[in-house]
Amino acid sequence: MVDEALIERAREFHGHICPFSILGLRASEIAMNRLGVGKAGEAETVGEEVLAMVECNNCFADGVQVATGCTLGNNGLIYLDLGKNAVTLVRRGDWRGVRVYVDQDKLRSAYFSEEDLKLFEKVVKKREGTGEDWERLRNRWAEIGLSLMNAPEGLFKVEYVRVAEVERAPVFESVRCEGCGELAMKTRIREVDGKKLCLGCAGECEAVIGRGIVSGFKVPLLRGGRS
Ligand SMILES: [Zn+2]
Ligand SMILES: [Zn+2]
Repeated sequence: MVDEALIERAREFHGHICPFSILGLRASEIAMNRLGVGKAGEAETVGEEVLAMVECNNCFADGVQVATGCTLGNNGLIYLDLGKNAVTLVRRGDWRGVRVYVDQDKLRSAYFSEEDLKLFEKVVKKREGTGEDWERLRNRWAEIGLSLMNAPEGLFKVEYVRVAEVERAPVFESVRCEGCGELAMKTRIREVDGKKLCLGCAGECEAVIGRGIVSGFKVPLLRGGRS
């Protein structure tokens, strides 16, 4: 059962309480219990000893980072762009893991009313909500989120999995870009017309945006504006 302190940390990190941030906490908790690991501390985060693999970049993924301590910045978080609400927690060494998946259809019937779904449709999908609708949605979402603190394990699909080894984050040397003069990881330098350019100067990179990982993303830094 997710405790209040954890929920407060999630609120701070994620900005609000909502169904999927709490589900991220709860799914992580189930995976951690089954795997017999706690929140990643100093040893685990420095050595990348425990990995959490999420399958989407939404509220759920923030819940996972708060609960497991595996984050984007400490390389404990692996983002698989599969578009599912699931987390796999795995220990390096034996590469055994636990995957916890939550099915929206199962959730919908148990936790959301017809009215909640209509409100969501209007406010979020169609972007037609009034200020009052927004307020009502926020409150309902927080309420549903909190009720999911105690979601029974039966709501989730839990499976023991074997995980193929994932490399540790390598340390690459930096190369100075001949365009902007800044240092960039050497794997992020391209040769364009005989010049070594960073991807910012070359113009395109891969990016994680709302829809997931996008290749050939036009670097949106427009220079020359006033600060
Ligand atoms: Zn959220
Ligand atoms: Zn550059």
